[in-house]
Amino acid sequence: QANVFLIFSITSASLWFALSMWLDAQKSMNDLDVKNEQLKYLALRDQLTGLANRHYFDYDIEFLIASSKRNQTPIGMLMIDLDRFKLVNDIHGHDVGDAVLKQTAEIITRTLRASDRAYRWGGEEFLVVLPDTDREGMVLIAEKINQNFRDSTFDVIGSITVSIGGAEYESNEEIELWFKRVDLSLYKAKQTGRDQCNIWVVDEDLPEYFNRIEWRSELESGNKEIDA
Ligand code: GH3
Ligand code: MG
Ligand code: MG
Repeated sequence: QANVFLIFSITSASLWFALSMWLDAQKSMNDLDVKNEQLKYLALRDQLTGLANRHYFDYDIEFLIASSKRNQTPIGMLMIDLDRFKLVNDIHGHDVGDAVLKQTAEIITRTLRASDRAYRWGGEEFLVVLPDTDREGMVLIAEKINQNFRDSTFDVIGSITVSIGGAEYESNEEIELWFKRVDLSLYKAKQTGRDQCNIWVVDEDLPEYFNRIEWRSELESGNKEIDA
């Protein structure tokens, strides 16, 4: 009788011990999952504005292009850059600049549809990807963004405008080339007066733009005459 009781006690104690170890392990794994999710969130978000960052874009873009290809729908990209933003920092200080960046993110996101994506590209540049949107749609959205900035009031500085460049993805092109066209469109919007958008029209523009070499230190040969 005593033996049976002893065996029963040992068995149930062992079972209890094993169960509590297993529950502990499950809890640690859940904690780890939560921590991993938090880390992923931090790594893929811009801390100031809460928008997705460049890493998030890298993570997203292949998938977005693949779905546009599969569904045979257009896809657009906009680069939005605050006009004369350096002056805001110079005149009012970095904190006011930061507040402007936060409000900029809000204005952009509130203008977009739920399926559109906005990223803080860096500094005062914001990138937007517009699935299922052709050139005409891009012009409408970009003009709406420009207008929403004109209509917004910012603390301390009052108002600020943005310049926007954009281009529709051309099937099978390299992402770098798509970017280049967006960048050149933005450059044009800045050069021709700011507070406006410029969406890439035709590829006849390509040779003229692409033949313009921007000098970089990597291009230097070391020979002063040649470099000049
Ligand atoms: P443009 O109209 O040609 O775009 O002129 P700009 O002054 O906006 O352009 P520029 O690229 O010369 O200046 C960008 C400024 O953005 C420089 C830097 O002081 C500011 N900036 C970049 N990142 C941050 C940030 O996180 N916070 C704040 N407050 N300022 C930033
Ligand atoms: Mg800029
Ligand atoms: Mg700027």
